[in-house]
Amino acid sequence: MPVKCCLCDGSAVLKRPKTGDVMCKDCFYHAFEEEIHHTIVTGNLFTRGEVVAVGASGGKDSTVLAYVMKLLNERHDYGIKLVLLSVDEGITGYRDDSLETVKRNQQQYDLPLKIVSYEELYGWSMDAIVKQVGLKNNCTFCGVFRRQALDRGAMLLKVDKIITGHNADDIAETVIMNVLRGDIARLRRCTAITTGTDGALPRCKPFKYTYEKEIVMYAYFKKLDYFSTECIYSPNAYRGHARTYIKDLEAIRPSAIIDIIHSGESLSFKKEVKMPVQGTCKSCGYISSNPVCKACVLLEGLNKGLPRLGIGKPSRERRKLAKMEEEATINGSANESTVLKSCNKSHGSCDCKKTNKPLDRRKPNAEDFEF
Ligand code: SF4
Ligand code: ZN
Ligand code: ZN
Repeated sequence: MPVKCCLCDGSAVLKRPKTGDVMCKDCFYHAFEEEIHHTIVTGNLFTRGEVVAVGASGGKDSTVLAYVMKLLNERHDYGIKLVLLSVDEGITGYRDDSLETVKRNQQQYDLPLKIVSYEELYGWSMDAIVKQVGLKNNCTFCGVFRRQALDRGAMLLKVDKIITGHNADDIAETVIMNVLRGDIARLRRCTAITTGTDGALPRCKPFKYTYEKEIVMYAYFKKLDYFSTECIYSPNAYRGHARTYIKDLEAIRPSAIIDIIHSGESLSFKKEVKMPVQGTCKSCGYISSNPVCKACVLLEGLNKGLPRLGIGKPSRERRKLAKMEEEATINGSANESTVLKSCNKSHGSCDCKKTNKPLDRRKPNAEDFEF
């Protein structure tokens, strides 16, 4: 005998992972969308008239985010302008394919799209970075560069806010990872629904309380066009351990994901705990708690053939760099690293292209949007 939907007379076709309720498709869609609307309203995420960039990778989270945001913006009249913003890390066989999905989404949802690439911003693609650093620390480079790339793209488009598809599972994993690392600064901000209000562009997570399984279910029943292949350079072992641990917890306690997020939100920190002071990078102007931002340090390491410069304890690499520079001065030789070091043309006009350009604050042109 068919099971009835818990909300209407229709037949149930699914069981919600979040609540265990059995539902028909339409009631699930409505519940899923309105819970996100509730998160947006209670978190006070948008103001009428704002331009909001959806960080779009072509994956399930950002595809569902773009679809639901367009729908809710129309249904509840938020009065915001949505644009899609993608980062091309330069990963052949992965990002090139997923960007094709974003381009189709652009047509399907009729939203403007801007793509910024690592190659164009930093002079390095991830393919080239992996060739130099191998597969151990590649995600450190990629994560740091992506964060800046999204901000740079967003500034180029003069958007007011960026929204990302981070879901409840991602946030719970991040809480656990930060507890295990003892990273107080990140632990403090990782459950915030809006970050970056202290200098960088604000970033919001409308899926903060949305379960990954429900996002997949929604995309599946709605037949949304998304890309589901894993990155070919994805070791990300540490996050993988946190994910496995949370899955084990969920088997014992189904509410584990939300409980972890709530625990993260409820943490209080002693006043004496020193937090990093935000300033700006003296090289590129990006927000940084150090004189030079992490992206510029990593880039310097790549350009000088010392990729470990920005990873872990850099003292040995710093010594190597000082020695190389001393030798170059004595010999009067100019290898690539000294060319870069002595390159004092203004950023952007330099032929070496391998400098982190200062943040671009110009007004957008029509060609910044591909329709
Ligand atoms: Fe970048 Fe690592 Fe993610 Fe691949 S798995 S896209 S290299 S951060
Ligand atoms: Zn129903
Ligand atoms: Zn910098």
